[in-house]
Amino acid sequence: MTTTGLAHVPNNLRRGGSHGIPMSVNLVVMLGDQLDLSSAALDGFDPNHDVVWMAEVDSEAVAVWNHKARITIFLAAMRHFRDALQARGFTVDYRQLDDKANQGSLLAELKAAIKKHKPAKVILVEPGEYRLLDEFRQSIPKLEIRPDRHFLASVDDFREHAKGRKQLRMEYFYREMRRRYKILMEKDKPTGGDWNYDSENRGSFPKSGPSLLPAPIEFEPDKITQEVMALVEKRFPKHPGKLEHFKWPVTHADAKLALDDFITNRLKHFGTYQDAMWTGEPWLYHARIASSLNLKLLDPREACNAAQEAYERGDAPLAAVEGFIRQILGWREYVRGIYWLYMPDYIDKNALEATQPLPSFYWTGDTEMTCLSQTIGQTLDYGYAHHIQRLMVTGLFTLLLGVDPKRVHEWYLAVYVDAVEWVELPNVLGMSQFADGGIMASKPYAATGKYIQRMSNYCQHCQYDPAESVGDKACPFTTLYWDFLMRHETKLTKVGRMDMQLRNLVRIEPAKKAAITKQANEIKERYQ
Ligand code: FAD
Ligand code: SF4
Repeated sequence: MTTTGLAHVPNNLRRGGSHGIPMSVNLVVMLGDQLDLSSAALDGFDPNHDVVWMAEVDSEAVAVWNHKARITIFLAAMRHFRDALQARGFTVDYRQLDDKANQGSLLAELKAAIKKHKPAKVILVEPGEYRLLDEFRQSIPKLEIRPDRHFLASVDDFREHAKGRKQLRMEYFYREMRRRYKILMEKDKPTGGDWNYDSENRGSFPKSGPSLLPAPIEFEPDKITQEVMALVEKRFPKHPGKLEHFKWPVTHADAKLALDDFITNRLKHFGTYQDAMWTGEPWLYHARIASSLNLKLLDPREACNAAQEAYERGDAPLAAVEGFIRQILGWREYVRGIYWLYMPDYIDKNALEATQPLPSFYWTGDTEMTCLSQTIGQTLDYGYAHHIQRLMVTGLFTLLLGVDPKRVHEWYLAVYVDAVEWVELPNVLGMSQFADGGIMASKPYAATGKYIQRMSNYCQHCQYDPAESVGDKACPFTTLYWDFLMRHETKLTKVGRMDMQLRNLVRIEPAKKAAITKQANEIKERYQ
């Protein structure tokens, strides 16, 4: 982690509480996903006068029906960050969730802190959620908002990239970022000659399954994290998810160890098996660093550099390293750009006019469909599923069923330890539900159960057959896929890349189409 810009404040310079009111205090607000020791908010921090302010509040924990692990990771990381700041000599005014006087709302708490400290300025780095930015701007006087240096592209950089383009595509943005940061570049050419090795990133496992799966590093909860876990169990007993398996990094040092573990043990296979899934194997070759990145415990530059160095040492092939760097330098920065470019309207988009409720089994994993019970089961156990499980299992099912995208968004925001709105919303609404009508993805990620069969062994343990679209054995994904194409045929005709799928639809006999519609309606009825 680079510490450029961090003012190291010696302990003896701490501001004493009872020595009178300082002439001019800056109140530096640190939100739960801003745990960055190099944050611009700390630039120029005056240890004699200034105060860092942090608060744990109910309103954020219950704003969505949060997984217990998601609440825990935020609060545990915040408390460790508070201690890291104090150890460096910063004065921190910290409100715990279980403080008797806690008013339960971020703004109410901040207003009370402003009354107490009478700051000349309230300093905040751009938050990761439009609603919060708006609320701060509306109701906090003397507010100074500073740019978030964690990201490699600023919101303005992305606006500039988007200017004059009819259609935004991640690939072009990614190439700009590669050139700008000279990552995997030889002079002005991409290392290896190609920009993108995506075609080598789609392998599935042989029948025998994955071999040599190194168990990822785990972080046993320390005393602080255990206290948070006990608090969460006590305060949010009915919330979804379990804490038995909570082994996530909640400090900068542990986030770095998690990255090292991935680079050493799994990066080399990451490319080939990026899209593969396997029963009972939640992690496979994935990095498991999204929560650390999104809480800002880990710097994305560090992750990209570590992968590039592994390639230069000959420890990992180019396709794996490029695939990993594309996710962070490309997708992660791109979705943030989309979020800020299209909010606040983006959250209400519903291009396919989907209105079905979210099936209740999304909160329990209790379904006979093996792919969904596996993906939701591990989500509830760990607060984690990898990209293809999110996109092509849980996301695909709601897309095909026609679930209201807002309900889908609320679920994804609630259940993953890495969920923060700026990254979750475009992935859910845009990439997986096509609710933005094609801003994020050039076509809907619609597929039959055969895609899941090809990429996993889930179907081998399922009562359904992905090749069937009608009858008792019909896979609900396959039935709903054809029904989806029929329902949206007119709209999808305008989406160029759907031609082949629509041509296959034309080949289906009218009687079979009627049977598919009937069976699809029965499925929709079941999940009303
Ligand atoms: P790996 O698969 O090992 O990838 C490495 C890193 O690349 C990730 O840690 C992440 O930082 C980045 N990355 C990969 N894909 C994406 C992407 N599409 N968008 C942004 N960053 C990406 N990611 C989140 O961080 N938070 C979310 O709330 C979130 N919600 C998602 C919802 C849906 C429907 C989909 C399809 C994807 C979502 N993603 C989200 C992206 C991706 O699934 C997760 O980043 C990834 O699964 C996290 O696991 P990992 O750290 O093991 O990632
Ligand atoms: Fe999922 Fe269909 Fe395969 Fe069953 S048959 S696991 S429902 S894709």
